[in-house]
Amino acid sequence: MRAVRRFTVHPSLPESLSGLGALATNLRWTWHPPTRDLFASIDDDLFRSLKDPLRMLTTVDPARLEELADDADFLQRTRAATEDLQRYLTEPRWYQRRASAVDGDGSRLPAAVAYFSMEFGVTEALPNYSGGLGVLAADHLKAASDLGAPLIGVGPLYRAGYFRQALSLDGWQVEHYPVIDPSGLPLELLAEPSGEPVLVQVEMPGGRDLRAQIWMARVGRIPLLLLDTDVEANDEDLRRVTDRLYGGDADHRIRQEILAGIGGVRAVRRYCELTGHPQPEVFHTNEGHAGFLGLERAREILGGERLEFEEALSAVRAGTVFTTHTPVPAGIDRFPVDLVQHYFGEGRLLPGIEVRRVLALGAEDNPGMFNMAHMGLRLAQRANGVSALHGRVSRRMFARLWTGFDENEVPISSVTNGVHGPTWVAREMTALLGGNDEEWGHDGDSGTASAVSDEQLWDLRRDLRGKLVAEVRRRLRASWLQRGASALELGWTDSVFDPDVLTVGFARRVPTYKRLTLMLRDPERLRALLLDEQRPIQVVVAGKSHPADEGGKALIQQIVRFVDDPAVRHRIVFLPDYDMSMARYLYRGCDVWLNNPTRPLEACGTSGMKSALNGGLNLSIRDGWWDECYDGSNGWAIPTADGVTDPLRRDDLEAAALYELLGQQIAPLFYDRDAAGVPAGWLSMVWHTLRTLGPRVQASRMVREYVESYYRPAATMAAAAIGGDYAGARSLAGYRARLGMSWGRVRILDTELQTEVAEDHAAFVVGKEIRVRANVDLAGLDPADVHVQAVVGKVGDTDDLLHPVTVPMSHTGIGEFSTTLRLPHAGALGYTVRVLPRHDLLASPAELGKVILP
Ligand SMILES: *Cc1c(COP(=O)(O)O)cnc(C)c1O
Repeated sequence: MRAVRRFTVHPSLPESLSGLGALATNLRWTWHPPTRDLFASIDDDLFRSLKDPLRMLTTVDPARLEELADDADFLQRTRAATEDLQRYLTEPRWYQRRASAVDGDGSRLPAAVAYFSMEFGVTEALPNYSGGLGVLAADHLKAASDLGAPLIGVGPLYRAGYFRQALSLDGWQVEHYPVIDPSGLPLELLAEPSGEPVLVQVEMPGGRDLRAQIWMARVGRIPLLLLDTDVEANDEDLRRVTDRLYGGDADHRIRQEILAGIGGVRAVRRYCELTGHPQPEVFHTNEGHAGFLGLERAREILGGERLEFEEALSAVRAGTVFTTHTPVPAGIDRFPVDLVQHYFGEGRLLPGIEVRRVLALGAEDNPGMFNMAHMGLRLAQRANGVSALHGRVSRRMFARLWTGFDENEVPISSVTNGVHGPTWVAREMTALLGGNDEEWGHDGDSGTASAVSDEQLWDLRRDLRGKLVAEVRRRLRASWLQRGASALELGWTDSVFDPDVLTVGFARRVPTYKRLTLMLRDPERLRALLLDEQRPIQVVVAGKSHPADEGGKALIQQIVRFVDDPAVRHRIVFLPDYDMSMARYLYRGCDVWLNNPTRPLEACGTSGMKSALNGGLNLSIRDGWWDECYDGSNGWAIPTADGVTDPLRRDDLEAAALYELLGQQIAPLFYDRDAAGVPAGWLSMVWHTLRTLGPRVQASRMVREYVESYYRPAATMAAAAIGGDYAGARSLAGYRARLGMSWGRVRILDTELQTEVAEDHAAFVVGKEIRVRANVDLAGLDPADVHVQAVVGKVGDTDDLLHPVTVPMSHTGIGEFSTTLRLPHAGALGYTVRVLPRHDLLASPAELGKVILP
């Protein structure tokens, strides 16, 4: 018999153990080993198999709980853990100290920031993610919690999360979607004071309403609000809006995104009203999917204040941050214009906002398509990519929204991603090296790195490798049983891998650009490396293909066919169902973390950071974060055949370089041992990695950068836009309207370069002062409405200015602007003059994409 409906009954804990409830429902346990130890001490085996304190409390024998209710030692430890959690949740941390430090300097740290993402990978106990984007979002929340930054996370809750992966006998990916019962997860349903669940409502075409209930996860100090449309009040098709992550067609996707953006804002508002949490001053969208949130906030303002749309938009933009993760145009989220028209055209969803306004925000070259990234950039005053290289790629990719500007002036900067140390670093490693209480959210124990010897570090690395080997054997056996093998044939799985062999890891999603099968380019060379008698390597591979991507599944099958070969299967494995619980073993146990994307298609990549924090060495194409972090002695860079256009030839060249590095440099260094069996050369690279990369790859570094360079200026600008009955927003909108009328007629009439000795070329020497003058017709604008700038740079064959230096010009007479400047370079120079918009509430003069050149 099948159940018609599932539900979970929560345990009734003995009074003296009530503290366990709070400890189990706050996900801080996922990065706080002492709390995990407490739960493990209830029933070690059970905890090991469930890996979730809440399920543990519902599953454990009630008699055991009764017993613990009288166990003085256990009660004492529970009390200590509860008090520790309480302290963590309430004490002032980094953010509170920063807020006092900046108090009075005219800027402000926001009282709250809403952080929107389509997925959050907090823990395998809450499987609401597909991969890197979701894990990054959760790491962002966890680091914000440790730093005391007041974020509120917002996104959908999927009934089937992402799929679980298995293999068929012939190596084809098989997907299944376990149904999730939210009431059995570490989530609380947000309720009205009446006790009824809060329902947010989003208007659909044809007079229907889409409703969602809100589940809250507690991620340390951070509430994470997850919207769930599977409620009885919804029509059958609308109940399925949050059925699964990244499934379905464009219509399904736009419903999810309308829910996430518009419903998400409504959920945050209600949450803050109910709990007294401050309303967000800044809204941050992690990728463009939730971009409609800006329109919802404009609607709120339009409903309450007597403002024009452009005025409301000015206020909204000031407080919005958009992070793009997409380095290729094909990866951008787009919808047919008709579909957007269908949802926004009736005017019921966003009353007061005409659909033409909506469409204009998503306009792109193709008039039939609505571009979510373009909307993201137009609705956010601040935007960034996720590594230095990705920032450059994004500036180029979106340069057409800022024509007339040099690529490096396109106002998209970058914050390199980071990972949450306490989540990803093996506790043994933290115990040996210590951790920083402030940024790790707990004491990292006593060890100090300087007192640790090579032998100790090497013992630890071997221990972690050994744990990975045991996990590989366990998972491999389970996979073969699932593929149909009988236990009798599987004796060989007990001896695959070796805790003393150089271990290489490669685990990631399988889109083409990540090149899962690059290592198979020359199977004989790979085989030779695996089977080398003196210096073998062993390789663990994992990764899921998008269910609709047959090409990706074929790549997985290629790998599986290779690893199934009895000649190599003890040295290379493919483990199905890559997720956070498997990832942890891989990042901790591998000596080398391999990454070979086609440059520059990896926006950042974060798995290599997790490996580095555990003493793994990266072997990677210089793409994403590795492009800026590789320093010649913290790992290896696989040379890229940039510019080779034939992809097969490029693969050949890069694969050959990979084999060469593994065979000639990496394996020899790993196996070069001293008398005690310790590889000193290898360990010096590991130490160097831990010391220099360790601090850079932390999510706490990333969140501090977002706070200082994004949230703080955004909150400051938003306050200036909103204060005094939206005086700033009105002023900026009025200014933009005036620009709209005059800009097309602004002209630079003539320009002039003056030196002391006119026309004497000998006068042009580096460092010499020259004077630049220009006559400008401002077409009725005020000189204070514009920046007039002189730009001087080198010129090559094309007269394009290279390495330009920009100098502001002052208003020195009617229509006249001038400045003096020192010649910055020797050689052929050129100069020009340009006019740019100027207003206090613009984040940069390039923001509006307007520039007048002679
Ligand atoms: C960190 C992580 C990723 C992201 O790794 P990339 O290097 O960006 O491919 C994907 N999946 C899981 C489970 C992770 O923990």
